[in-house]
Formats: sequence, C-alpha cells, structure tokens
Amino acid sequence: MTHPAYLSAAGSRARSRLTSMLQSRPMLRAGLVTMARSCGKKACKCAKGEKHVSLYLSLKVGRSRKMVYVPPALEEKVRTWAGDYREAAALWEKMLEEYLERFLKEKMTQQGSAPSRRRRSAPDARPV
Ligand SMILES: [Zn+2]
Repeated sequence: MTHPAYLSAAGSRARSRLTSMLQSRPMLRAGLVTMARSCGKKACKCAKGEKHVSLYLSLKVGRSRKMVYVPPALEEKVRTWAGDYREAAALWEKMLEEYLERFLKEKMTQQGSAPSRRRRSAPDARPV
C-alpha cells in the first residue's frame, strides 16, 4: 500500500519546493502592469511626450480589477513576491493534477472490478 499522499518523483519535488516556499517567502497574487502617464504639469517633460513610467499591481477584487501604484523603491520586492506567487501556484497545480490523475486511475481500477450490469443500468452516466 502506497502512502496516501504519494506523488511521483517530479510531484514530490514540486511539493517540497512549494512547502519550503510557503514557509519562507512572502507572495503577492497580482499581475504587474507598467503604465506611462502624464502628470498634468505643463512644464514637465511628460508634456513633451516623455511620460512617467510606473509599475502597478493589478489586483482582482471581487469581480473587478484594481490597480495599485508601486513606489520605485518597492518595485524589485514586488516583482519577486509576484514571481514567487506564480511559481508556487504552478507547483500547486502540478500536485493537484497528479492527484486527479491518481483518482482517475483508481476509478478505472474500480470500474474494472465492478459487475458489468451496473453499466447497463446507468446508460446516462458516462466515464470521463
Ligand atoms: Zn510629468
């Protein structure tokens, strides 16, 4: 009998990395968007087309999106936190995919040993 939380070697590596990230890395679930704007001052360089470029977090708040300005001093930190979130989310997905595959495999095994009349009695239930 395999361990209940058994994963393949690759899945196991994903889980270890994810666990260590969760213990040590702050994360931001946000998209990063660069926007160029003019400040409105007539004497400013942006009035001549050289716009101010700033980084924003694009956050999902309920059903809408919110843009949050990132001060230059925090840009690097925010990029790291958002990047770590994307990596952690991908690792999490990888683990979940493996568990889904395992469920589907176990389901096939179950169906293989089930009496065949069961299939005839439920014609609308199609295996995925
Ligand atoms: Zn300006």
